[in-house]
Amino acid sequence: MINRKSRDEIKRMIHAGHIVALVHEKMKEVVEPGISTKELDNIAMKVIKENRAVPTFLGYEGFPASICTSINEHVVHGIPSEKEILKEGDIIAIDVGATYGGMVGDSAWSYEVGKVTPEVHKLMETTKEALYAGVAQMKPGNVLDDISKAIEDVANKGGYGIVRQYGGHGVGHVMHEEPFLYNYSVGDRTLIKSNMAIAIEPMLNLGGDDVFVGEDGWLVSTADGKPSAHFEHTVIATDDGPIITTKL
Ligand code: MG
Ligand code: MG
Repeated sequence: MINRKSRDEIKRMIHAGHIVALVHEKMKEVVEPGISTKELDNIAMKVIKENRAVPTFLGYEGFPASICTSINEHVVHGIPSEKEILKEGDIIAIDVGATYGGMVGDSAWSYEVGKVTPEVHKLMETTKEALYAGVAQMKPGNVLDDISKAIEDVANKGGYGIVRQYGGHGVGHVMHEEPFLYNYSVGDRTLIKSNMAIAIEPMLNLGGDDVFVGEDGWLVSTADGKPSAHFEHTVIATDDGPIITTKL
């Protein structure tokens, strides 16, 4: 069942989302060549705690950190490490979750480390465009497939691979609620109603669709080793248009 949030739950989701957005503001500042992904995790944890929220990811199914850090061909679920140092020309997807008042905000953003190649920059811009094309469809009366199709159309226009095994999801009291949201059309006619919340999160690849899970059981990478970008917002459908909780 897809639950619809009460006015009070929405208020807390907006607060949680705001804290996630503050973490991303900080990440934008500190992502640069030479910093380790473990340092990024420490900084993110500090911002979350300073704002009296709980890092949603820490301990989630045993995940050992407050953020996921996925560099270049890494797609999602990378575990921060002091041995992993950002270098010029990398891209890094940082996924952040914060729980406030029992409600969750979930947002991933990809960052360029110094200067990246034009083709990687275009992948980043297109993935962001796919996210906002999906967000625009998050309105009462539409169906889930409207979001999926909007994302797929943008990806296809750019000629990018679409990660198939992972996608968006309902969000609220916990990070992953029903429904699952595909990033490509599967004809899901589930109706979007007001006050439903979904994390919309396209993952697009410079190469093919295929990905695999690494030996640590977490890290997802592209099969062809080409870069992947990931952008995500938590979005609530309302009669006055979509509310993005995870932006400032
Ligand atoms: Mg996320
Ligand atoms: Mg998510």
